[in-house]
Amino acid sequence: MKAAVCYEFNKPLVVEELDIDPPQRGEVKVRLAATAVCHSDIHFIKGDLGGKLPFVAGHEAAGYIDEVGEGVTSVKPGDPVVVSLLRSCGQCVFCNTGRPNLCVARWPLDTESRLHNKRGETVAHGVRTAAFAEYTVVDKSQVVQVPKEMPLDRACLLACGVITGFGAVVNCAKVKPLSSVVVIGIGGVGLNAVQGAAFAGAYPIIAVDTLDSKLKAARAFGATHTLNVAKEKDPVKAVRQLTSGGGADYVIVTVGNTAAVRQGFSMAGRGGTTVIVGLATEPVSASPMEFIDGEKILTGSFMGSTRLSVDVPKLVALYQAGHLKLDELITARYPLDQINKAIDSVVKGEALRNVIVF
Ligand code: ZN
Ligand code: ZN
Repeated sequence: MKAAVCYEFNKPLVVEELDIDPPQRGEVKVRLAATAVCHSDIHFIKGDLGGKLPFVAGHEAAGYIDEVGEGVTSVKPGDPVVVSLLRSCGQCVFCNTGRPNLCVARWPLDTESRLHNKRGETVAHGVRTAAFAEYTVVDKSQVVQVPKEMPLDRACLLACGVITGFGAVVNCAKVKPLSSVVVIGIGGVGLNAVQGAAFAGAYPIIAVDTLDSKLKAARAFGATHTLNVAKEKDPVKAVRQLTSGGGADYVIVTVGNTAAVRQGFSMAGRGGTTVIVGLATEPVSASPMEFIDGEKILTGSFMGSTRLSVDVPKLVALYQAGHLKLDELITARYPLDQINKAIDSVVKGEALRNVIVF
């Protein structure tokens, strides 16, 4: 099968033939139909987060079950599924208390690989999914069945970008109607945070970015106000003005940048919650007094605090009823051979979501 392999950090991916082993006990093999390019893939490909080379990235995917390993009864060959990086055991304390995204179990796939190149080298499953390939092998908990009518190039967006943004607002922050929300960074995740805030009944919804084109998209997804931080002298003051002087009730930071987290925390008002979603690695500085006086909360959300088997079917239903925008998130579709072009355009900020279709 063909796959796009990262042999060296920050270099173009190599599209080549790989061998893939059959699924082991509890695993499934999926014939991929579509995989979107997410910023986290780019972080890994650039080497920002370390990791073993060579690897295949790609973790926002959908396809058809091709083969199931021993003991798998939840899906069967031919079933259309969303494929995510989230794995859960169903047995640990987090799985049993409704927080499967925090599952602490370990899997053979954490250390083993089912992928090998033609020179006999092992190729790692990057971002737990290795979906920049025609096939992947994942744990059964990483797939959720979707209805046959659901187009898979749109369903794939539910594996990461949509659940991360929408979930940060709805599951993690639990945004209340008529509360004020700021979303910093209007990429695929940020747009979904905006659409989650609109769904939750927030007002105002303030989208923050450096590109007017992204802010325009944010308006289409439900933002009521926009702030271009490249042009605005004092964005924190601007947010205060838009929130009756008090600062925002909720701030969702989707860019992987510590300065943006710091700025977001300052934009939150008394009693306000700031949720870190973007993968920043530098420390954030804040005085304990900022937390005490005003009881501000700074927290993180991993994958939108999503319960895959619960949230994905609900989001599919919302899309099918016309209440969730997915079509509008896709900027372009590319064949696997042109994956480096698809990635470049995301790096340049030209795309909301570029989708590799197989
Ligand atoms: Zn992602
Ligand atoms: Zn678990």
